[in-house]
Amino acid sequence: MPGPFAVSLKHVVTPSPVHVKIRQQRTAGGGACSLRLLCSITTSYELQMIGGPGLQVGEEEGHADHVIALHDVDLRSHDACRAAMLKLLSSLPGAGPASLLDPAAGEWYEPVLAAAADGIVSQLQPVTSGEGYAFDVSLCIGESFKYVQPEALLLACEQAEIIPTTSQAPVVERCAVCMERLPLPSPTPTTEEALLSLPSCGHTFHRRCIASWFQKGSTCPLCRRDMMYCLLDAEKRFGLEREDISSKKRNRDMAS
Ligand SMILES: [Zn+2]
Ligand SMILES: [Zn+2]
Repeated sequence: MPGPFAVSLKHVVTPSPVHVKIRQQRTAGGGACSLRLLCSITTSYELQMIGGPGLQVGEEEGHADHVIALHDVDLRSHDACRAAMLKLLSSLPGAGPASLLDPAAGEWYEPVLAAAADGIVSQLQPVTSGEGYAFDVSLCIGESFKYVQPEALLLACEQAEIIPTTSQAPVVERCAVCMERLPLPSPTPTTEEALLSLPSCGHTFHRRCIASWFQKGSTCPLCRRDMMYCLLDAEKRFGLEREDISSKKRNRDMAS
């Protein structure tokens, strides 16, 4: 089930160009090769907290080097090289809360697979088919995680189940943030018309208005009820590692 962090915690992987080189020629016949991936991963976190300044680079920068290998693989075709590289990439430990091949990070690895396959196949082609070679593929990866707390709070409020029944819900005619009259709820609202009723108090605002309100604070603009509990609940439900990122920052803020 996708939690609020699927959207609010952005996972970006940026690879450098790959370098492919033949390490050694093997005398064994059959054309089987070995493939080694030398990968260097630098991880960074960026955080934007409610009421804080914009996106800031977190203090937890990390770096790790990995060397993993496949032996006796057939690398004579483009497809075979891609498959072997994908196998190596998928066995790399994710440096952060998610795996490197996390779909949320996009298909960053496609150009990497293609470049590695091109490099291997072009070096193998002039070689007689009976010989095997050991290839090294070097790759540097920058992995960053962006946690935007105002966005996370908005999503947590949308997904919270504690909404008053219609008989108890207060009738709100105007958005207390922009003071404009609220449109009637529509099943297919435009971005401008989209509404959000906050959990527990049921006060309704334009979604875009409450989104900008949450940049500065976590309370309902009308009744001042603090909505932060929704985010804390969501963090608990959707993964402790991701909670760690924001709670470390919270603890640091409280200490200072
Ligand atoms: Zn509004
Ligand atoms: Zn309220």
